[in-house]
Amino acid sequence: MTSVTSSPVRTRFAPSPTGYLHLGGARTALFSWAFARRFGGTFILRIEDTDLERSTPEAVQAIIDGMQWLGLAHDEGPFYQMRRMDRYREVIAQMLAQGTAYYCYSSPQEVEAMRERQRAAGDKPRYDGTWRPAQDKTLPPVPADRQPVVRFCNPLDGEVTWDDVVKGPITISNQEMDDLVIARPDGTPTYNFCVVVDDWDMGITHVIRGDDHVNNTPRQINILKALGAPLPLYGHVPMILGADGEKLSKRHGAVSVMDYPAQGYLPEAMLNYLARLGWSHGDEEVFSMEQFCGWFDLDHLSKSAAQFNPEKLNWLNNHYIKLADNVRLAQLAQPLMEREGAQFTPGAPDLAAVVGLLKERANTVNDIATAALIFYRTPAPDAALVAQHVTPAITPALADFAARCGQVEWNRAALAAMIKEVLAQHQLKMPQLAMPLRLLLAGQLQTPAIDAVLELFGRENVLARLAAFVK
Ligand code: GLU
Repeated sequence: MTSVTSSPVRTRFAPSPTGYLHLGGARTALFSWAFARRFGGTFILRIEDTDLERSTPEAVQAIIDGMQWLGLAHDEGPFYQMRRMDRYREVIAQMLAQGTAYYCYSSPQEVEAMRERQRAAGDKPRYDGTWRPAQDKTLPPVPADRQPVVRFCNPLDGEVTWDDVVKGPITISNQEMDDLVIARPDGTPTYNFCVVVDDWDMGITHVIRGDDHVNNTPRQINILKALGAPLPLYGHVPMILGADGEKLSKRHGAVSVMDYPAQGYLPEAMLNYLARLGWSHGDEEVFSMEQFCGWFDLDHLSKSAAQFNPEKLNWLNNHYIKLADNVRLAQLAQPLMEREGAQFTPGAPDLAAVVGLLKERANTVNDIATAALIFYRTPAPDAALVAQHVTPAITPALADFAARCGQVEWNRAALAAMIKEVLAQHQLKMPQLAMPLRLLLAGQLQTPAIDAVLELFGRENVLARLAAFVK
């Protein structure tokens, strides 16, 4: 396999904490994590928080919460770039001493003017090298009171080539690239430089990231080479698009990973879903993380953008809900139900049993919670519906039913048999009894099978709810 090196695998997820953990980030994290798991390697979490204006502690927490919910545990870190400033300064000093970086005193206005001139001449705008040292070159006099930036001496000729494990070989001419600013006038290092030092120091062997970073890669490779650092393998994963082919955004539904538990999705469904978004293993659609970690490789990552498909996520979530333990689902559903006024008083039906009945048809835990409310709220049936369904013609059958409820063995099969007897006795059809019962017990006409509903309500609750209507 081309994508495995002889050294132990070390991957990283390196989010910038400027918002929530979005689906694309979570998928990158999942791929990096699974690749490390597959090869007995190490997965590192690195928080790229050097953009002080946009980074927030809440966003750091959102990333950590999202990773935790998904169960993507890191082996090392989290490392925070803001805590590594001394190290970056040290490497910058080394590069200045070795001549792979230089002080540049061109003012921002001068650089802008330079770019304007180049654009006007039809050239690609780039720093013109005024302050770049060269043999026999005399640099301009250092302007007073001006703090220099530090620029990297990008090679002037030749090209950078890497064999991207997703996209294949990519070659960029060095003439396309600027002498990148690696430290600002106040000495703080810039984004691409911190990434390079970190990937080097952390011994990263495989950089798996979104393809919005593909333009950074040749710059990072050049700096790594200048440092004499080993080069990791790079894999740039295409973006996730909405079902309409547009870049995934709020318009397409939730893009923050932590919106999904709030909407009743299970982490195993989300993981399975994300794993198939841009990666495949034959026709496998449903698999555990154990299987995924046994299979995941970089050779089967798709070159084209993946499309987010909410129906497929729902289908997977339904699959995992059906497999999930009822007590676990009940614990997830209960707080949602309490918010809707559900009362879990002694004698109320066992929520795990209710969940067991409802989960077959639920796409989300929230679907279960909504459907389960009938068991934990005083029914308030619409008066017109009651008048329509609980007619004088039906009342004797209801009374008979209630009387038999006092004696019948309380299980679904016995209840079904008893209902049949009542129907026969009163010469009624099933809906003529089931609809009034649904209305009086649940307050609505749609419920699961009436015998199952009765069983879950329990004898006491059924009799209490019928009492007002059956004298
Ligand atoms: N911090 C970058 C981001 O959040 C990722 C950088 C990288 O993976 O190299 O997009």
